[in-house]
Amino acid sequence: MKSLLLLMILAMPQSAIAQAIDNEPFAGPKIEQFPWKLVKISKVDYVSMVQVEQFYRFDKIQRDGKSVLLSTNDAEARFEVGSHRCSINKVQFILSHPIQSRINDPSAYLSALDLKDLLDPVLRPKHIQGAKNFNTVIIDPGHGGKDKGATGLESQYTLILAKLLKAELEKKGFRTVLTRQGNVSIPLGDRVRIANAHDNAIMISLHFNASPKPQVNGMETYTMSARVPRPANRSSVALAAAVHSRVLLDLNQPIPDGDFNTTDRGIRRARFNILSECKHPTIYLEAGYLTNKAEAAKIKNPAYQQRLASAIARGIEAYQVTLQKK
Ligand SMILES: [Zn+2]
Repeated sequence: MKSLLLLMILAMPQSAIAQAIDNEPFAGPKIEQFPWKLVKISKVDYVSMVQVEQFYRFDKIQRDGKSVLLSTNDAEARFEVGSHRCSINKVQFILSHPIQSRINDPSAYLSALDLKDLLDPVLRPKHIQGAKNFNTVIIDPGHGGKDKGATGLESQYTLILAKLLKAELEKKGFRTVLTRQGNVSIPLGDRVRIANAHDNAIMISLHFNASPKPQVNGMETYTMSARVPRPANRSSVALAAAVHSRVLLDLNQPIPDGDFNTTDRGIRRARFNILSECKHPTIYLEAGYLTNKAEAAKIKNPAYQQRLASAIARGIEAYQVTLQKK
């Protein structure tokens, strides 16, 4: 369940099945080396989509009313004027600033912050400055002890998922550290101290969600708000893209009995303390809604828990492979 520090909650529609972002079709110079023409809109620096197309050498830019599509043979980015939502290679993201347009100007505009801290790390994870290889994964099972989390059951399921994820990661050769082993209450500050005591690490905080609307369901992944400058922000976004897209792809694969299908609620930005105080690339996964009857039944199903843990581990591995290709 989300803390009150959540920066913004935006309603998202259900989206297409996510695709993994495995390759990196966009080579080219560093962002700083391009002659961007910055335009102030509502006191925020923006760049035109025409320049974005040129910089990444997209083959096509199509504007149809409010929607803008940039595409090549194997990648696409979709935006909508006036909206914080966008989709990159069919994964949903929430921008820090909405897409804008100007009178008598056919181009749409993307904020310079979203260009640098969202679009670039997702399209070109190998270019992230300071992104380091890692051998340790800090797994944070949210809540515990007196703090039972969403519907009184969240803390129980985050610990089950954490232990399954630990086993999957260790099979792949990662070191793992759990911020809690049992049903105990660990203050947030202690969780961050445990994480920061390790080097060459990334962190994933595991949660399940609750909503007053019982129909709400699906996966959300949070990274730190780009408005708070932090060295690991850009690698956190690339890690989020790798894990989130793999979870959607694997859960939406057909299975023999029934289905584990889930909804993409997007990669979002927040100011949770665990995100802001951890020195490592950190993501916060809300792996479904316990207040949705069908999703709660899946979260309680050991086969689903195992599938989810294995998908998260595969996403983490995909991110590591990207770093090794640098
Ligand atoms: Zn939670």
